Amino acid sequence: MQFKTIIEPFKIKSVEPISISTEAERVKYLEAAHYNPFLLKSQQVIIDFLTDSGTSAMSSNQWAALMNGDESYAGAKSWERFEKTVHELTGMPHILPTHQGRAAERILYGHLGGKGKYFISNTHFDTTRANIEFSGATAIDFPSLEANDETSSYPFKGNLEIQQLKKFIDENGAEKIAGVILTVTNNSGGGQPVSMQNAKQVSALCRQHNILFILDCCRIAENSYFIKNHEKAYENKTYKEIAQEMFSLADASIMSAKKDALVNMGGFLTMRKNLWPMHVHNC
Ligand SMILES: *Cc1c(COP(=O)(O)O)cnc(C)c1O
Repeated sequence: MQFKTIIEPFKIKSVEPISISTEAERVKYLEAAHYNPFLLKSQQVIIDFLTDSGTSAMSSNQWAALMNGDESYAGAKSWERFEKTVHELTGMPHILPTHQGRAAERILYGHLGGKGKYFISNTHFDTTRANIEFSGATAIDFPSLEANDETSSYPFKGNLEIQQLKKFIDENGAEKIAGVILTVTNNSGGGQPVSMQNAKQVSALCRQHNILFILDCCRIAENSYFIKNHEKAYENKTYKEIAQEMFSLADASIMSAKKDALVNMGGFLTMRKNLWPMHVHNC
């Protein structure tokens, strides 16, 4: 049964103390950190708006499931369940669990990157850009033209500007582009959603030029909500069907499960084709 409540339909029964500071102390902390919030200590922060990563509370059932986790060294049934779930959602056969999103990025972009390579995105998230630039590659943002127009109520300001991508490919050649990353929703672009139409255009252009199309999908559930409510062709699809269709357009995906998967730690990397086809190890 579908119903609406005016209150949140759950209660919170776990609390974590925060440290309280005075305004004068906070001014001192900020000066000492050279106004860079990454240099603050968590104990100096009362309410942390730095990130949405791992900020959701877990349910009592999630905590209880930790105790039922199968920690076997090999062949764990928790892994089988995880793999089946991720495979069903993404349709991709190569699945690697990681401790969080940035670890999946380090593995993929460390492998694909390097000097002279380019990555193009609707907007690179900070950990995405850091992993790409650390590899020696260059990260370029092509956000939609509507993204910086605060008078526009366009519902998909998170889109990638397809004309700029076309122009970049024409001028630089496809060979130097290690990947196009569509981040849904566009976190560093104000958390704005991306339309299915835009994902289809990016996918088609990438396939035409044989460029790897990567979905940074940590908010794909809420992105699907925006598609269902603002893209006519999708009003009768389920959120899951919308997410599955978007995954079907991509060659690989990066997930920070600390976002829409509502856990406090976790992530994964998926690939349609094995991007490490060199050799088989025995360990
Ligand atoms: C949070 C986030 C990441 C990094 O994930 P972590 O789990 O915090 O390491 C990567 N990309 C996007 C778009 C994100 O929002």
